[in-house]
Amino acid sequence: MAQFRFKALDEVLNRKPVEIEREENLVSDYYGMLVFDQSKMKKYLSREAYKAVTDAVERGTTVDRKMADQVAQGMKAWAIENGATHYTHWFHPLTDGTAEKHDAFIVHGADGGVIESFSGKLLAQQEPDASSFPSGGIRQTFEARGYTAWDPSSPAFISETTLTIPTIFISYTGEALDYKTPLLRALNTIDKAATSVCQYFDKNVTRVQANLGWEQEYFLIDEALFMARPDLMLTGRTLMGHASSKDQQLDDHYFSSIPTRVNKFMQDVENEAYKLGIPVKTRHNEVAPNQFELAPIYEEANLANDHNQLCMDIMQKIARRHKFRILFHEKPFAGINGSGKHNNWSLSTDTGVNLYSPGKNPKSNLQFLTFVINTLKAVYDNQDLLRASILTASNQHRLGANEAPPSIISVFLGSEVSAMLDLMEEAVVDRKMTPDEKTALKLNIGRIPEIILDNTDRNRTSPFAFTGNRFEFRAVGSMANNASALIVLNTAVADQLKKFKIEVDTLIEKGVKKDEAIFQVLKTLIIDTKPIRFNGDGYSEEWVKEAEKRGLTNIGNVPDSLAAYMREECIDLFNRNGIFNKSELEGRVEVEYEKFIMKVQIESRVLADIAINHIVPTAVEYQTMLLENVKNLKEVFPEEEFLSLAGGRLDLIREVGGHISAIKAKRKEMIAARAKANKVEDVVERSKEYDKEVRPYLDEIRDHIDRLELIVDNEKWPLPKYRELLFVR
Ligand code: ADP
Ligand code: MG
Repeated sequence: MAQFRFKALDEVLNRKPVEIEREENLVSDYYGMLVFDQSKMKKYLSREAYKAVTDAVERGTTVDRKMADQVAQGMKAWAIENGATHYTHWFHPLTDGTAEKHDAFIVHGADGGVIESFSGKLLAQQEPDASSFPSGGIRQTFEARGYTAWDPSSPAFISETTLTIPTIFISYTGEALDYKTPLLRALNTIDKAATSVCQYFDKNVTRVQANLGWEQEYFLIDEALFMARPDLMLTGRTLMGHASSKDQQLDDHYFSSIPTRVNKFMQDVENEAYKLGIPVKTRHNEVAPNQFELAPIYEEANLANDHNQLCMDIMQKIARRHKFRILFHEKPFAGINGSGKHNNWSLSTDTGVNLYSPGKNPKSNLQFLTFVINTLKAVYDNQDLLRASILTASNQHRLGANEAPPSIISVFLGSEVSAMLDLMEEAVVDRKMTPDEKTALKLNIGRIPEIILDNTDRNRTSPFAFTGNRFEFRAVGSMANNASALIVLNTAVADQLKKFKIEVDTLIEKGVKKDEAIFQVLKTLIIDTKPIRFNGDGYSEEWVKEAEKRGLTNIGNVPDSLAAYMREECIDLFNRNGIFNKSELEGRVEVEYEKFIMKVQIESRVLADIAINHIVPTAVEYQTMLLENVKNLKEVFPEEEFLSLAGGRLDLIREVGGHISAIKAKRKEMIAARAKANKVEDVVERSKEYDKEVRPYLDEIRDHIDRLELIVDNEKWPLPKYRELLFVR
């Protein structure tokens, strides 16, 4: 066993150094070359078909069968010219990744041979065998098979040799079985709600789009070392491992010089991403050793999310090419930083205005404040849903741990905006404002600096922070499909904007002037939402106490957090906004409970195996070695001298023995706890049982293993240690 460890390390150390090759072409020359984008559509489609697709994208109209046939012909011609032999519908089932099933273009030809064919029917709709995707019982309930349907708003692309068509995945009775369908519904809802609020300020606005800029954090581990860690291979995180004497204490990894081998990997990823029209822009070393980040320029939210999923896929493939393995798990290593995926989110109009950017004059600033304050209210009212959208078995390890947002949802606004809200709160009284008061308020609102992107006014400890021209939802996990968070966020804000509109309209009907009506409603919202505003240190103990006083919720476990989805008011929220009906929601939440249970179960099994197959035998071997040594000492030395020489050894033998016994006993108890939990019928109760009765053993057993790691002969230790996993690069 020990040899394997050193073989793995040997392999790493004997690898040839990588060289940085320079790309000959400008990125702008090959950007999007594998995407059936506007320029390709213009070339390969009739004017009619081109218009049908652009209308579908811009106005949400449907593409009829005849047009779909034309589009399919154009797509096929382009794809074949670019080396594609297959096509696939690509979708986001409720798993940790995307799904694809490739079919060749070939059909039987007239002369017994084959020809390449692709039709509008195949482009528009397909029926993958959906029975093995999680649906939480929706399919059983409705006895319906699932089908995938083309999403023209996200362009088709070529992945290796396959024409890949982004699609939604739904049941025959229309229930969403994926992440994209409800995301598109939520984006549509916020478009309508935000557009109608924009009408107060600018009649020219006809569409509002949500934007997403994701920041993907990840770890890179050398493949040879990864292969020697069954826990990493099977669960994506280390289930054991003593802290390295040095890890991130010196802050010497963050933004430091990128190792050449990693840089080469990043370059390859970026080149692939550019070909697929993914505008990746930023790369840097993150806080933990061997932790890095990749971020693109923000895009429309649905497209951006497709690009994130695609990018994660590319990163996994390219990591292997460089003999790395990539870890997207939120907490692969205990005791050091985990990985998140900040979701930078904003709304912008078809008139080119970012609704979260302060404007040049009082009118545009009032619009800006309207959107900021309504977002505050949406987050305040839906803190539990927002948490439920991001808390998973893996992210549960990260939230509230090293430099990660806590499980309390609060909003950071920064000093400028906070001061503005305080001013509005005081200025407007519950009576008609005097003309002087109005002028004063307008003047103040007009004074918000146009750009408040001030990097010194950043708060990295807030789970939901205003960052000058957008909100940054920082609690999202690195492994997550962003859609989960975006569905809740966009629905919550859309719903709040609708309520706001009704209140303002009611005041206007009563004869209150428009601006004043807006002020009045905003004022109540400012007062209502005070508890959710927090500019201080979100990682501090004091905040936990303060938040409790303010009545904010603090839930750190998945089962309790998921319960939010099934509250009456949340079911109503999704229902009235057309996102989920009750059975869809039930199905989806059941999938989440199941996922949590499975993940804890897998970790528990893996740990039990490693403990008994790797750790205990190693410890016994070491103990035997010590015993041999003691026996020999006893033979050679007289009693008194023997005792002084072997005393420490005897303690060590007892210590090792104690850990061995504890590991074996706890392992047994854990297996029994699992068996007991598995018998619980109800999925919610079962998940609680797993959380409370099984999960704690993971830490308890680990503790004994980590202590053994410190005392057992390094030569014998069967697993690569943290100091190797984190520092070999
Ligand atoms: P930081 O790490 O300082 O937050 P980065 O540059 O790493 O900043 O990432 C910021 C992300 O936010 C990028 O994806 C960027 O494109 C995105 N972003 C910038 N402006 C907006 C906006 N108005 N709406 C949404 N995302 C934005
Ligand atoms: Mg950021």
